Amino acid sequence: MTGVYPGSFDPFTLGHKDIVERAAKFCDKLYIAVSENINKKHLFTLEERVEMIREVFAGNDNIIVESFNGLLVDYMQSKKAAYIIRGLRAVSDFEYEFQMAFANRSINNNVETIFMVPGSRYLFLSSTIVRDIAYNKGDVSSLVPEPVCKRLIEKYNI
Ligand code: ADP
Repeated sequence: MTGVYPGSFDPFTLGHKDIVERAAKFCDKLYIAVSENINKKHLFTLEERVEMIREVFAGNDNIIVESFNGLLVDYMQSKKAAYIIRGLRAVSDFEYEFQMAFANRSINNNVETIFMVPGSRYLFLSSTIVRDIAYNKGDVSSLVPEPVCKRLIEKYNI
């Protein structure tokens, strides 16, 4: 079973990592597909985001980190992947995620979206919150993996 976990991951948080670790238990191969989100202004470049996530999963051969552009379903077809992994936190995620799942299915009826719930300590964690805390020179070490923490410290002179 090949899964794809798509997102902008700006930056990748421990909530994202929690979802990857859960999904990797049942996916033989899991692609973390990093993209630009046209509705968001990004803090890190696409290359920086890919590089950081690769560092987080260095040594895990079944977790592959790549960037992609264009339609997710086209990327999935190129990887022969049929399952989209997405994380669900509070109710606020639901409407957007539901819409995306139907949009992807309407383009390719063979893809299924699997929603996963993170550990309860990550239910209210978002990349936006991490960026806000780091911007104000707060400690984000309990919210993001080490390679991300290092880059945030450099970026904001924390
Ligand atoms: P996008 O820009 O595509 O929404 P994100 O990087 O914001 O990408 O999120 C990627 C996926 O990870 C989404 O499905 C989102 O709901 C999920 N996610 C984000 N933060 C968490 C978290 N703390 N716990 C579980 N899932 C999360």
